[in-house]
Amino acid sequence: MEIIRSIKQMQQYILAEKQKGKKIGFVPTMGFLHEGHEKLIRTAREDNDITITSIFVNPLQFGPNEDFDRYPRDEEHDVQVCKRLNVDVLFLPDNNEMYPKPQVISIHVDKRTDALCGRSREGHFSGVATVLTKLFHIVSPDQAYFGMKDAQQVAVVEGLIHDFNFPITIVPVQTIREEDGLAKSSRNVYLSAHEREEAPIIFKALQLGQKMVIDGEKNPDIIVREVESFITSKTSGKIDYVELLSYPDLTAVETINETIILATAVHFKKARLIDNIVMNADGSISVQI
Ligand code: AMP
Repeated sequence: MEIIRSIKQMQQYILAEKQKGKKIGFVPTMGFLHEGHEKLIRTAREDNDITITSIFVNPLQFGPNEDFDRYPRDEEHDVQVCKRLNVDVLFLPDNNEMYPKPQVISIHVDKRTDALCGRSREGHFSGVATVLTKLFHIVSPDQAYFGMKDAQQVAVVEGLIHDFNFPITIVPVQTIREEDGLAKSSRNVYLSAHEREEAPIIFKALQLGQKMVIDGEKNPDIIVREVESFITSKTSGKIDYVELLSYPDLTAVETINETIILATAVHFKKARLIDNIVMNADGSISVQI
């Protein structure tokens, strides 16, 4: 496996591989790799000739009171994971390489951000779209892999690809979970032992909502209230939001008759955890974007 830290070198590598007709798969991450990331990398490996993984903790997507400084980092571990998974190139640019001076132009996301995490994390998705625009230009992948754990991110990236005509196919990958249902996340290390015991309730609450849809409940408000009270009564976490919206447009629905997302964010003392289920109108899991 090659480790590349310079943009120029990365572009030269890609150009050479493209001239050989190789198909490029790309998995952008912020590192501290876990089995969720591993699933993305494995899927990319299966579908492509060359797999590129990037690790870059992007300051643009963190708000002033968020956890940029204490975001978990472990480069040595991540290098070992990528080697084990036969990644071809691990792209590890530093901040100076990605942002040598303040951006003259950045991407502003107009839609799909006035709900869920977009509402509570102002500017977050503009930061994500800006760094991905840069990374897509640097890596020029044929396919890029994103986890449905961040379903709003998938919806925004789909818009970015479509509206700016990137010749890239987005491949959404289902959320990988711990045995007790908790979605794997780099931020789970922030949970206290007690909070870790409570955290699986988040997914159980979403499953309860999904069951209501399967059983024929069509009113989003009734489902949202049930999910909220399940989380509040069984955890010490503070709900940031529970929302049921159309997917991928993320608009309010009066009655459930299309693909929807049921999503939540819950604050524990040091970690804000998110999770969601994207489902068809009959409650079956939807994997389309
Ligand atoms: P991050 O490093 O948190 O920015 O995540 C990098 C990519 O991994 C994103 O596309 C995430 O959606 C994806 N990802 C994170 N956690 C999981 C998970 N538990 N299952 C599947 N994909 C995940």
